[in-house]
Amino acid sequence: MHDLELERLLTRENQHYLDSIDLIAASNAPIAAVRDNHAWGVAQFRSAEGHLGNKPYAGTSIFDEVERLAVERARAVFGAEHANVQPVSGSLANLAAYRALMKPGDTMMAMATTSGGHLSHGHPKHIVSELYRVVTYTVAPETGLLPYDDIRRIAERERPRVIVAGYSAYPRAVDFARFSGIAQEVGATLIADISHIAGLVAAGLHDNPSAYPDTVVTTSVEKTLRGTRGGILLCPASLRARIDSAVFPGLQSSVGMAGLVSLAATLKDAASPVFRAYQRRVVSNARRMAGILLDGGLDLLTGGTDTHLLVVDLTRTALTGRDAEGRLQDLGILSNRNMLPGDPRPPFVASGLRLGTPTITSRGYDDEDVAELADIVLAALRADDWDATKVTLLRKRADVLRARARPDDALSDLMASAARDER
Ligand SMILES: *Cc1c(COP(=O)(O)O)cnc(C)c1O
Repeated sequence: MHDLELERLLTRENQHYLDSIDLIAASNAPIAAVRDNHAWGVAQFRSAEGHLGNKPYAGTSIFDEVERLAVERARAVFGAEHANVQPVSGSLANLAAYRALMKPGDTMMAMATTSGGHLSHGHPKHIVSELYRVVTYTVAPETGLLPYDDIRRIAERERPRVIVAGYSAYPRAVDFARFSGIAQEVGATLIADISHIAGLVAAGLHDNPSAYPDTVVTTSVEKTLRGTRGGILLCPASLRARIDSAVFPGLQSSVGMAGLVSLAATLKDAASPVFRAYQRRVVSNARRMAGILLDGGLDLLTGGTDTHLLVVDLTRTALTGRDAEGRLQDLGILSNRNMLPGDPRPPFVASGLRLGTPTITSRGYDDEDVAELADIVLAALRADDWDATKVTLLRKRADVLRARARPDDALSDLMASAARDER
């Protein structure tokens, strides 16, 4: 590379990434086949607009074949009648789903962002809240769990056109059957946003919302599904035309071929036994971490996890979410502050800390590594004071752990042996 400015930045970012232990629940590290764009040739810069098999550009038949491969794989992995793989992100997949199902001014119902909902579910500053009338529900303040009876009552009262289920910081399984029942009762369409749990759903470790009638499923690709940035829409055949035209020409124009190549590779991986073994380990690593933090005296939202993420409730400690995030960063451990339901602190400070296991599991951390990591996190969050001696001591332990991260190629061997053990 002859661009020194850029080269320096990339060298620093690579070093930073390798020096970090990434516990951000929305991150992951894709396998080589998904991110290896050296092999992609012209696909790296090709783009075209229009529906699959119907693009108003000459010379797009191979482009369409790549898109068709991604679509067929998405349908197979998630058991859906139709897939649209063009959304450039999970947020835009949501916007397209809303556009397909509502007119401006219609009512939609979604979880408040302060309870773990996503910006694109109608945050007051997001365009969605300008386009639609957004009615929110929250988790139950005492338990942190979804209060399905209250949700039904709100839906009966408000009669929304759309109900959104699926969150950014909810550590428990979502009862999509229950949501589907509520939606049918009030004549709404359910949008299941599985951005965070797509990998778990693909591996059969979480209920699959595509199994319920008339449900639209949206997801981002770069989280547990372990791809690079992108979005997918899944729906019944009856909604195909509306969904496709909401994406194009309704919201986006051209699609980059590189994203489609990466997505097709992601979905091939997602259909493999190795991927299922990986997801099982993501979940068992999260459970293990939750158990150690609880035993050590920390509070977790909902008292634990069914998924890849946990939220530490710092209310009974002297730390804010921002403090806790800062302490872990001093040790080279990345996490993010997170609002708790009814949090009195502003979002930039917050009283919770969100942790997730997708990336450390992709980098090969096993049960023993996770136990040591959880122990370091516990010591950092429970320390009364945060002086240089303590930081140095814990940083040393984190450094040993960092050195144990296995390179990605070794990772696939490791996971293959885990898959053999399962059989
Ligand atoms: C991350 C996320 C999204 C958005 O995905 P992007 O690809 O970042 O746009 C949508 N919904 C939920 C629940 C998410 O967690």
